[in-house]
Amino acid sequence: MNLHLKEAALAVFLLPAALLLTVTISCSKKTMPTRTQGALGTVCSINAFDDASEGLYDELFARLNEIDERFSATRRDSDISRVNAQAGIKAVAVHRDVYYVVQTALNFAQKTDGAFDPTVGPLVKLWGINTADARVPSQEEIDAVLPLVDWRMVQMDPGDGETSKKIFLLQKGMSLDLGGIAKGYAADEMARILGEHGVGQAIVNLGGNVYAYGSKKDGSNWRVAVKNPQEPLGKEALAINFAQSNSVVTSGAYERFFEKDGVRYHHIINPKTGYPEQNNIGSVTIVSRSSIQADALSTAAYILGPTEYFKIERTAALFILGDKSIKASLQLAGNVEVLDGSFSNIVFR
Ligand code: AMP
Ligand code: MG
Repeated sequence: MNLHLKEAALAVFLLPAALLLTVTISCSKKTMPTRTQGALGTVCSINAFDDASEGLYDELFARLNEIDERFSATRRDSDISRVNAQAGIKAVAVHRDVYYVVQTALNFAQKTDGAFDPTVGPLVKLWGINTADARVPSQEEIDAVLPLVDWRMVQMDPGDGETSKKIFLLQKGMSLDLGGIAKGYAADEMARILGEHGVGQAIVNLGGNVYAYGSKKDGSNWRVAVKNPQEPLGKEALAINFAQSNSVVTSGAYERFFEKDGVRYHHIINPKTGYPEQNNIGSVTIVSRSSIQADALSTAAYILGPTEYFKIERTAALFILGDKSIKASLQLAGNVEVLDGSFSNIVFR
């Protein structure tokens, strides 16, 4: 995968991480600095504060690289690439991690009636968003690949053990793209490893897919800031506050896109139309202890929009609309701190 340095600016900034880092670096020699590395096609950084050690960071980043190797759609030898290469030909044995993530993706596809669809690969390739080949395809080209985008045409074979799981894409030309869910899985894996090491507090930031793990030792809340989708490099719109472990994942049209003839074509594609979803949503943020869930739902929610999303799902969500008004889940009431006054029109529901 390519390292998208633009994402170094990150969809989400971590207020406490930045503050804590400044404080702890200046007053405690024991504290390890954050480690930052490229993985999963983005910039990944982890700060385990007082509990950090080189060994812990080595283990965490080795796991990120392993996930990258198994899930990448661009590495030819990844499980995903092998499944894609055999589309319409035969079922392919995959690692149980891959089986789990694809099965989870299919569950979300069913739940969101295909708004989230891991078989979106042919459309992602056609549009080439964030590659040197980005372009607006013709309607004929889109019509030709639309029949290949259908999560119901993925056959999952659980086998009879951990090593005999297989995935089969039923039609030639189909391809899996887990870009909308893999970082969430990776963040959950980081949380699992941090738990195994008894780490009390940590911040994991995988290209804006954030896991604030544990609780802060000084008893204060985690504060994860959400960007102004209209000015991603400017002052943040708001912060979401919480005391205990949570993942905060944002999907937005401002993240990966190109412009042609004054139109912005971004990376979240509606599997039914074949076009980047055009709506009035600036961004949608999901808050959940499960980052794989937050990741899949943020991508789906961008396509569904608030009305449909709130009909089918209860996981905490916050939509920033084009007019800067905000629609958020009732369970976030009391957790949202407005940082930029132009985002104070919030309706909780
Ligand atoms: P995210 O940034 O998590 O919203 O995921 C966006 C990425 O997911 C894109 O870059 C594609 O790789 C992939 N993707 C795009 N549209 C969809 C979709 N409708 N369902 C699932 N994955 C998608
Ligand atoms: Mg996602």
